[in-house]
Amino acid sequence: MRALVFDSFAGPLEVREVAAPDPAPGGVVVRVAASGICRSDWHGWQGHDPDVVLPHVPGHELAGTVAAVGAGVTRWAVDDRVTVPFVNACGRCAQCAAGEHQVCAHQTQPGFTHWGSLAEFVALDAADVNLVAVPPELDLTTAAALGCRYATAFRAVLQIGRVRAGEWLAVHGCGGVGLSAVQIAVAAGARVIAVDVAPGALELARDLGAEHTVAGGTDVPAAILGLTGGGAHVSLDALGAALTCTNSIRSLRPRGRHVQVGLLPPAQGRPEVPMDRVIALELQLFGSHGMAAHAYPELLGLIAAGRLDPHRLVTRELALGDAGAALAEIGRRPGIAVVTSF
Ligand SMILES: [Zn+2]
Ligand SMILES: [Zn+2]
Repeated sequence: MRALVFDSFAGPLEVREVAAPDPAPGGVVVRVAASGICRSDWHGWQGHDPDVVLPHVPGHELAGTVAAVGAGVTRWAVDDRVTVPFVNACGRCAQCAAGEHQVCAHQTQPGFTHWGSLAEFVALDAADVNLVAVPPELDLTTAAALGCRYATAFRAVLQIGRVRAGEWLAVHGCGGVGLSAVQIAVAAGARVIAVDVAPGALELARDLGAEHTVAGGTDVPAAILGLTGGGAHVSLDALGAALTCTNSIRSLRPRGRHVQVGLLPPAQGRPEVPMDRVIALELQLFGSHGMAAHAYPELLGLIAAGRLDPHRLVTRELALGDAGAALAEIGRRPGIAVVTSF
């Protein structure tokens, strides 16, 4: 099969022929129809993820059709249209038993713990636990965008941040997950302030319904405290950087809720967390790590009803041959890039 491969961290990204995977017991192999390119893929390529073993194929935001079914799989058959959360849960540990598949103790992640979906085929584990059927009316390109960033934003904004209509949400970093959060929060009736250094990203955030935009590099917390009359109710670090994390916490009003969504690899420096402010204002700090497959029906229902439109975030469709360049320059162009030709 053709796949995007790197042999060294931050080294060349090249498309070449490699062996196609076989399904593991309980797993499937999916013929990839669409695979998004995410900042987490960039972190894996840079060597920030200890799970990545060289040579490696990135890619974890995917949709496609089942091509081969492993022993013991009962819910899926060849040609089924599917997507999958980036955390593939085991279905058997204590976290899975509690329904918290996104923090499974024995999880695998395509594109990190094994080869990913920037390839013609990808292997997925525990298919009966993790696969999500893509409804006929949803195209596979849009479905691919759900797998990491959109589903993560959905859970971060509504289930962890618990944003309510009329509340202020600040979104720090308007890449794929940040823009997804803007769209989801606006649909929920929240008032959104979008923060980014790139004017193009802020323009897209405004198009998606952000009420205010703030240019990164200024005194972001002061601007948000001013615009909201005392601070945001909920604030997301959707980028994952020491400064955006600290700014997010400092943007909150008393009893406000910070949700950390962007990855913060230690190699990039630890954020300064103002614990004095956390105590004095009774701030609440949360992490968000994707969304379990069983939580997808609510999201898919809102898409089917026309309340959410993830396809608006897909700004570029690429061939696999262009994926390496797009991965290397992640964040330079607004919106989500999806590989749709393999
Ligand atoms: Zn588990
Ligand atoms: Zn991702």
